[in-house]
Amino acid sequence: MTQKYSITLLPGDGIGPEIMASTVLVLQAIAPKFDLELDFQEALIGGAAIDATGSPLPEATLETCRQSDAVLLAAIGGYQWDNLPRQQRPETGLLGLRQGLGLFANLRPATIFPQLIEASTLKPEVITGVDIMVVRELTGGIYFGQPKGIFTSETQKKRGVNTMAYHEEEIDRIAKVAFEIAQKRNKKLCSVDKANVLDVSQLWRDRVTAMAPLYPDVELSHLYVDNAAMQLIRNPRQFDTIVTGNLFGDILSDEAAMLTGSIGMLPSASLGAKGPGVFEPVHGSAPDIAGQDLANPLAQVLSAAMMLRYGLNQDEAATTIEKAVWNVLEKGIRTGDIMSDGMKKVGCQAMGAALLEVI
Ligand code: NAD
Repeated sequence: MTQKYSITLLPGDGIGPEIMASTVLVLQAIAPKFDLELDFQEALIGGAAIDATGSPLPEATLETCRQSDAVLLAAIGGYQWDNLPRQQRPETGLLGLRQGLGLFANLRPATIFPQLIEASTLKPEVITGVDIMVVRELTGGIYFGQPKGIFTSETQKKRGVNTMAYHEEEIDRIAKVAFEIAQKRNKKLCSVDKANVLDVSQLWRDRVTAMAPLYPDVELSHLYVDNAAMQLIRNPRQFDTIVTGNLFGDILSDEAAMLTGSIGMLPSASLGAKGPGVFEPVHGSAPDIAGQDLANPLAQVLSAAMMLRYGLNQDEAATTIEKAVWNVLEKGIRTGDIMSDGMKKVGCQAMGAALLEVI
């Protein structure tokens, strides 16, 4: 039976519309193979939305997203909006989207494509076969805890304060997401905290440990964040799925991603308890190369694969896209950002066409 899904496309700014166009063609080519009917609607976000409506996240965009099964976002931002007040900047649209959809889980895979191993700064024998998923809590912890601010004492001395706080429900819901993802992967989950120093981390560790019996097939381990940062560089292959709080996850997900060495290849997903998730590349809008057919669309294409797997439960279709990316790299086809000697350099559109040919 045909499965129908409605997908909101948010191309945004800079290279966004280019990489989105290639990705939509890929999705349209995949859909009939798996009996999927994908209904796309486009909406405004970021600088494009500011220019058209004055707001980086118009209410109509949020409503369209809420009504859909998944949201595919490209990137926002650009020099021309850099000097606007913070509330009117493109980035505010992104934060508003995450809040508006209640996205509390951020999934950041770091997968090494053997064809691109030279792009990593680490030795091939250390990173060959690395396949890590970092699950980061996105809406709690130190970025949101109260009190926060810069306070002035009676003696006019200033004190900056942020509060790292987690309710047990917040820990439980991100732990559940992480255990379920680990179940779909290699069934190893490493929870990262700072329980030797922080009370909030001790609660984190207790709650994650308490949930483990519900997932007897998943092997749970714990690491302190400083050790985790070292282990990621020393022996990244020991990790499968990592779960951690907002601050630690912010840092570790960037560290893990950079093991791969190529920003144009990194997808991400943000999920809530219910409603649509948002799927987007890790990179920004790359205004320096926008409109020149130079962008690498693969992070966006891989984000669409994550959308199929984690947003629409279409695992096989996701795998087909990932295999197509693999095959195109195998053929030696490269955009400028991942180019190396002896490979064939192409632009964004030709990379999209190469994927279609493989599919
Ligand atoms: P960036 O990721 O846009 O670009 C960094 C460098 O990587 C640039 O040299 C760029 O050309 C290159 N690059 C990025 N993606 C590429 C791709 N797909 N193919 C080829 N090369 C690629 O980061 P930046 O320059 O710091 O930021 C530019 C704008 O993007 C800013 O306005 C920033 O606020 C915004 N931004 C948005 C997001 C997002 O939408 N999630 C994330 C980061 C930055």
